[in-house]
Amino acid sequence: MSELRIESVTVEVAGRTLVDSVSLRAGPGEVVGLVGPNGAGKSTLLRTCYRALRPNSGRVLLDGTDIRRLPARQVARTLAAVLQEMPSDFGLTARDVVAMGRAPYRRAFQADSRDDTEAVGAALASLGVAELADRRFDRLSGGEKQRVLIARALAQQPSVMVLDEPTNHLDLRHQLDALRLVRTLGVTAVIAVHDLNLAAAFCDRICVLDQGRLLADGPPEAVLTEELIAEVYGVRTEVSRHPAKGKPHIVVLP
Ligand code: ADP
Ligand code: MG
Repeated sequence: MSELRIESVTVEVAGRTLVDSVSLRAGPGEVVGLVGPNGAGKSTLLRTCYRALRPNSGRVLLDGTDIRRLPARQVARTLAAVLQEMPSDFGLTARDVVAMGRAPYRRAFQADSRDDTEAVGAALASLGVAELADRRFDRLSGGEKQRVLIARALAQQPSVMVLDEPTNHLDLRHQLDALRLVRTLGVTAVIAVHDLNLAAAFCDRICVLDQGRLLADGPPEAVLTEELIAEVYGVRTEVSRHPAKGKPHIVVLP
């Protein structure tokens, strides 16, 4: 298990500060939810974690080492990202897409090893998409694609996962299944989630981002208050405790 630490990360694009000196830590096995309104900077912050974007200042540390100093292959074996962008390669099957997750373990021109085949099969099965394996990825539904992309990340056998709204195309049951799966894997995870109730139910900590700044960071019951939600989202809510789990349960008031 690994630790992911974001240290005073600032991202500026064309003179605008999209992420403003954000620090947060996901300890080994911890699931951290990143919430905040559209445009808050969640995706931008996550991009700095998988090296798609270089921060203007600050660093992202994987087990104490700046990810910019680690070999790409090592980062890819440790950290998997589930992004909102879909692979657009024409004609790939779902299995082909999941098999991409094995690239960090393969040498150039080497055929799939038995480990690769097993990891791909297990990942397809755990997301319930084994029966889609031979279908064309570009013809799957949004929710099916999303589950295949989570399977690709699993095939990578990461110890850290960064997920950008991995549940937004999923129906209720598959949302729960996907987040439950991330939990049961025991990986360190940072997940951008829209649904505050889902975030409260599945995350150890919630970080709230607004206009690029980190407004709150703590356990769901400390962070998801009526006051904070009103301030950040501009909506009135009633927050109670879930009767069974004791987690905050948020109802939006008209
Ligand atoms: P979120 O994921 O929280 O909805 P984003 O990180 O996608 O927010 O975006 C934060 C802000 O940065 C938005 O206002 C968005 O329009 C802007 N933004 C994102 N990427 C770029 C870019 N490459 N160039 C300019 N502005 C960008
Ligand atoms: Mg986003």
